[in-house]
Amino acid sequence: MTTAQDAARELFTSLTDRDPDGVWSAPGRVNLIGEHTDYNEGFVLPFAIPHRTVAAVGLRDDSRIRVASTFTDETVEVGIDELDGLFPTLRQAQGPSGEATPGVPEWAAYPLGVAWALQLAAPEGAFRGVDIAIASDVPVGAGLSSSAAIEGATATALNDLWHTDLDRTALARVGRRAENEAVGAPTGIMDQMASMLGEPDAAIFLDCRTLEAQLVPVGIAEAGLAILVMDTRVKHAHSTGGYGERRAACERGAAIMGASSLRDVSVADLGRAEELMDDVTFRRVRHVVTENQRVLDTVRVLREQGARAIGDLLVASHASMRDDFEISVPELDTAVEAALAAGALGARMTGGGFGGAAIALIEQDAVAPVSDAVTAAFAAAGFTAPHLFTVTPSAGAHRDA
Ligand code: ADP
Ligand code: MG
Repeated sequence: MTTAQDAARELFTSLTDRDPDGVWSAPGRVNLIGEHTDYNEGFVLPFAIPHRTVAAVGLRDDSRIRVASTFTDETVEVGIDELDGLFPTLRQAQGPSGEATPGVPEWAAYPLGVAWALQLAAPEGAFRGVDIAIASDVPVGAGLSSSAAIEGATATALNDLWHTDLDRTALARVGRRAENEAVGAPTGIMDQMASMLGEPDAAIFLDCRTLEAQLVPVGIAEAGLAILVMDTRVKHAHSTGGYGERRAACERGAAIMGASSLRDVSVADLGRAEELMDDVTFRRVRHVVTENQRVLDTVRVLREQGARAIGDLLVASHASMRDDFEISVPELDTAVEAALAAGALGARMTGGGFGGAAIALIEQDAVAPVSDAVTAAFAAAGFTAPHLFTVTPSAGAHRDA
């Protein structure tokens, strides 16, 4: 049993004086490549990581939902029939992520938002009160999607206990709806799909237009390689300006090109795009269009040549995010540059940007020297020490016990 499982069970028992009816968990994710392409109906290639969020859950005799998390001392309780009134209120009074929202604290809007969205998606479910105790070993706010993990753990638990019988893709949509509408973070569907569909040693090649997902074996360990996560400890926040501004630029660029989304603009169209739009909009468009192509190229290279050959695509992706999409920060650039200088085959920031984590593809026996080099580069720059650890593609959401 993992520590997060122990912690969730303990929290449940201290809350209710009984054992949970079950324990469910869902992982965080790393995106191998394909950044800011999801909301442009493009392609992404994430994989689930071993770090998981665990929900210990038990049915109650009434129709109230109580949520608790080891993340905080607060416990929040609402009636199931109050959810509908609660979230439209939150939607109108939306503040940036991290700001107090009326009614419930922000963290509780994730699990309660999932309960709300699940009811809307499957109105014939057997809705009963539940106690939900949450614990996690996914770093929070590090770009590893602790948000999708808490949504996924809650959604799989309630889907079983409420007999709503939704499939994994439908549960991913429930999670996104909770995050978009209950929490107010305008994120795409990638994180939830990765957390729901992950499999050991596979990345999820996801078409964000159709939600068609294919598992692509990555063979990282087989090739003698490892993925090093370099969490910069710079907290990102989705709802603050930068993310929304990038989405708006993409919509503007697509409209200028007469396309419904940037998915329908190809690398061959970029010459025309450059003539039609201002420099900033063009560079935002160029990132998304070339990044979509890099995802397709990465999938092909993984299948034809293996993991060892994808390094240059990762490096090109980082440069595009740094120079064209302008979502990197000095800590992310330092991590990527130090890892490459110490021999990494490829490295890039991962997740939405403005902080969070980068990944490096390295030789298995280079974990210590690359980690030391990154730590030393951070110290030399006067940055807070990074949090460094390796990950392997892992299983998606499931019932643990
Ligand atoms: P990321 O997904 O990159 O970790 P987000 O800002 O999308 O960052 O989501 C982080 C937020 O999700 C936290 O601020 C908190 O509100 C909520 N959250 C994540 N994990 C937990 C947890 N274990 N318990 C309570 N809330 C959590
Ligand atoms: Mg998130």
